[in-house]
Amino acid sequence: MSRFWSETTQNLTPYVPGEQPKIANLIKLNTNEHPHGPSAQVIEAIQAATSDALRLYPDPEATALKQTLASYYQVKPEQVFVGNGSDEVLGHIFQGLLKHEAPLLFPDISYSFYPVYCGLYGINYRPVPLDDELCLCPQDYMPGPDQPVGGIIFPNPNAPTGRLLALTAIEQILNANPDVVVVVDEAYIDFGGESAISLVSRYPNLLVVQTLSKSRALAGLRVGFAIGDAHLIEGLERVKNSFNSYPLDRLAIAGAVAAFKDTAWFEKTRQDVISWRETLTADLQALGFEVLPSAANFIFVRHPECDAGELAAGLREQGVIVRHFKQARIQQYLRITIGWPEQHKALLSALKPLLSRLV
Ligand code: PMP
Repeated sequence: MSRFWSETTQNLTPYVPGEQPKIANLIKLNTNEHPHGPSAQVIEAIQAATSDALRLYPDPEATALKQTLASYYQVKPEQVFVGNGSDEVLGHIFQGLLKHEAPLLFPDISYSFYPVYCGLYGINYRPVPLDDELCLCPQDYMPGPDQPVGGIIFPNPNAPTGRLLALTAIEQILNANPDVVVVVDEAYIDFGGESAISLVSRYPNLLVVQTLSKSRALAGLRVGFAIGDAHLIEGLERVKNSFNSYPLDRLAIAGAVAAFKDTAWFEKTRQDVISWRETLTADLQALGFEVLPSAANFIFVRHPECDAGELAAGLREQGVIVRHFKQARIQQYLRITIGWPEQHKALLSALKPLLSRLV
């Protein structure tokens, strides 16, 4: 530890992302990337933007992208905030909108970046346990007068469980908490859920965050966005302009705009993932796995007779990477990203000898 470190640095517990392997040819089902490559129109738009114009700074407001997103989601451009991946958008939200005396609430099993941002920005928080079926209960987000709340955030569908919360349940949470910001992190919403963006005109405290990393197959481009009331968005712009006034480069803006134009690519590839998810679910159930219902591009599974850590290690030895979390409540589960049917075949054939050894 350096003697020049500040107290903040010393006390940080950084986020540990899923493995990005250096070895080629592994079957990578661990970080929820899209099996398809991005739309050809996205690649063309990025190639067209790769020009002399790179000499110039990008538009700090990313106006073209905000306009595209506004017309796609039928909101006003001033209701849209964009950033370098939804992780950065979330960072600005934590820093600018969620720091209060009262604790921020989020599910005990959810995106593990949330407590990291709380540590970084000195935000008080209280994890709220999911129920025995790993479902989020809206009633748990309706605290009494002696239990003040500083804000609420949860992924929908939840990560890493994949479970979806209906819009009616989200409205119950919003109605019970009109005075604090409620953030719905919809990184995986396009794989089977209904977006809460349709609610933003009625709830000025609602902020919906999405990413192009998953359903648009652009994890490498780093683009995310938030949609909400113009006042909330203005707060985020203030944070952004105090920190990173050019969050998106010219190539990212061009690619992201094109991604929302190619609706045919989006529909086709989204349906592929949904149908491959259903097939993999049935195949794993046939091997004795319990699979939580998923509305995401991953499934959360456990085998009642096998240690999940040993399964993950055994798969890794055979060149298949899935995600295993060490957190006590979910250490018997594996999170498996939906890949190509051939990759699923390889996963299943790697699992069979493991199961006969471990069961
Ligand atoms: N939210 C959730 C729930 C996620 O799982 C992820 C991906 N790790 C993100 C946000 C961040 O995605 P990105 O920064 O790639 O947009």
